[in-house]
Amino acid sequence: MDLLQKKEKIDKLRKQIAVCERCHLHQTRTHTVPGEGSLDAQIMFIGEAPGEKEDQLGQPFVGRAGAVLDKLLASIELKREDIYICNILKCRPPDNRNPLPDEIHACIGSLDLQIKLIDPLVIATLGKFATTYILEKFALPFSTISSVAGQVYKVDSSFGPKTIIPLFHPAVAMYDGSKYDRLLSDFKKLKPFAQESRHAHRL
Ligand code: URA
Repeated sequence: MDLLQKKEKIDKLRKQIAVCERCHLHQTRTHTVPGEGSLDAQIMFIGEAPGEKEDQLGQPFVGRAGAVLDKLLASIELKREDIYICNILKCRPPDNRNPLPDEIHACIGSLDLQIKLIDPLVIATLGKFATTYILEKFALPFSTISSVAGQVYKVDSSFGPKTIIPLFHPAVAMYDGSKYDRLLSDFKKLKPFAQESRHAHRL
């Protein structure tokens, strides 16, 4: 699929998400947060769900967790425009509570389509919810986020070969410096792909 076709399909998905009423979260949202970034990104980051700031602006990771993410990206010389970033849920759960199973079930088709359309080489999951979903989707075992964070899984799926790298959610580093150090060291696993990503971006 060429970039123009990708853009058309991603735009169509954005429009569908903007009017989505598949779960009750549409009643409390201000904006949907479909995701954004480079359409030919080699690395796709998947977070959990929009928070307050994301709900206000309609963009992913623009609050405090986003500031942590930007520092982590900078540590491997990546910028937002080199990657694609989206979430398991496209609408904010009230008071930033955890996503509920029925919300994930209603919303996940959009993420599946984003993975298919962006077709990244690497999927980096941020936190427990994205990690649980992606490891299960690619038939990989999951126990705890601490045991899988920083592991590099290679899968040969019907989507083609993919590398999956689970990571802690950047929000955990806001109050816990040791988690920030762990994230910094786990982000290094992305570095070889980061170089490819920047290269692709410049083409
Ligand atoms: N946390 C997430 O998981 N996603 C966002 O977009 C913002 C905060």
